[in-house]
Amino acid sequence: MFDRINDFILDTLFPVSCISCGKDDEWICEKCLNKISFKNIQVCPYCEKRITPNGYTCFECKKKYSLDGLLVAASYKDKFVSQAIHLYKYRFAEKISEPLGKIVLESLRQSEMPLPDMIIPIPLHPRRLRWRGFNQSELLAEYLEQKITPGFPIEVSNNLIRRIRYTEPQMKIKNKLQREKNIKNAFEIPRKSSDKTKNKRILLVDDVITTGATIFECAKMLKKSGAGEVFAIVIARQGNN
Ligand SMILES: [Zn+2]
Ligand SMILES: [Zn+2]
Repeated sequence: MFDRINDFILDTLFPVSCISCGKDDEWICEKCLNKISFKNIQVCPYCEKRITPNGYTCFECKKKYSLDGLLVAASYKDKFVSQAIHLYKYRFAEKISEPLGKIVLESLRQSEMPLPDMIIPIPLHPRRLRWRGFNQSELLAEYLEQKITPGFPIEVSNNLIRRIRYTEPQMKIKNKLQREKNIKNAFEIPRKSSDKTKNKRILLVDDVITTGATIFECAKMLKKSGAGEVFAIVIARQGNN
């Protein structure tokens, strides 16, 4: 009941309309959603130079790093995409998770990335979660859980990776090395969880990334805890592309 009253008040104060064409009642209408162009060229997530199928990590980078591949669904330069992400992240528009989930799902379907055993959203620190009220990556992961293989939901694990250190938002830090330093040792995978990750193929989910430091750090933790393969999917990556 309270939720419904809350929704009513919010809808009255901030009427919902498509951020692109202005059509009422939806943040992103079906027509505009279909106009988003998916990235058809993917690159290695680490060097961002070598073009690889499905955004797999290139041979050279694979020697040094943990993440096996990163699929970037759409371009951040697509104004519609960046607007939607911004709205999602900072205006607390929880309902936008569905159209954004569709973008991620469609990109996954168009790719040949192998199906995961488990989906893990990038966790927020409890303090930031309280402030924002929802974890935007978690909502995307839950959308995928239901839709990747309808009828056979793939497990979403929300508490396997824990955020144990409160960090500055990566968005506020410009320098790549500083971002790496900021996120280092920010996560923990309890030892008792390692039988859940052992030899598993894991898909990490996040909304938008820049240097990738957070996802790379999580991939490193997962491999340390015995994961077989770790892939990731994001709506967009800020920066060069
Ligand atoms: Zn529209
Ligand atoms: Zn590379």
